[in-house]
Amino acid sequence: MNEHVRTARRLQAETCLKHLHSNGFSADCFETAEEALAFLKELIPAGSSIGFGGSETLKETGILDWLTGNSEYTVYDRYHTDNPPKVFHDSLLADYYLMSTNALTMDGHLYNVDNTGNRVAALAYGPEHVIIVTGTNKLVKDVQEAVLRNEYIAAPANNARIQRGNPCEETGYCVHCSKETSLCNQFLVTRRSRPSGRIHVILINEDLGY
Ligand code: SF4
Repeated sequence: MNEHVRTARRLQAETCLKHLHSNGFSADCFETAEEALAFLKELIPAGSSIGFGGSETLKETGILDWLTGNSEYTVYDRYHTDNPPKVFHDSLLADYYLMSTNALTMDGHLYNVDNTGNRVAALAYGPEHVIIVTGTNKLVKDVQEAVLRNEYIAAPANNARIQRGNPCEETGYCVHCSKETSLCNQFLVTRRSRPSGRIHVILINEDLGY
């Protein structure tokens, strides 16, 4: 990342963190994914059960590699199972749930769009602890901009990865389809963390995921 963009993003992250705290979230910011991963390893006690949502950010930060086959924890691993629906349900009652977010607003709200809803269900009313790992590339001004970010970046990129034949694979942006194969079925704005501190945002000053 260009050093001046990095500086601007760091300043934005500091403002966002203040708003996250006033909205009841726990929140920390790190310059690198390595620092964030080291923090996470200290944060989650050994013996905990952990579920996670589908996330390129969790892959790029090395978090998935850390969890895969990790015998210190009970890991509900959606990527290494012959029964994904059971893993999704077990994850809803895990001690910790890890995920990224489609967007994070400067005024301290999360915006997420989901396919089946397993990820937004966990975020809204699942595990006692939810940890959001996100790059500063997902910072946006407000919820309106979050919607646009999803329609122009996150959702088309996700469709390009999964390839269900939806129209955004051709256009590169959302055309609000209502196809059976649409990946955009559940929309959630998390305005505050309730109870306070349940949701912990880990913001990393890097481009991560989409
Ligand atoms: S609603 Fe349809 S067109 Fe829009 S991003 Fe989702 S799958 Fe693509």
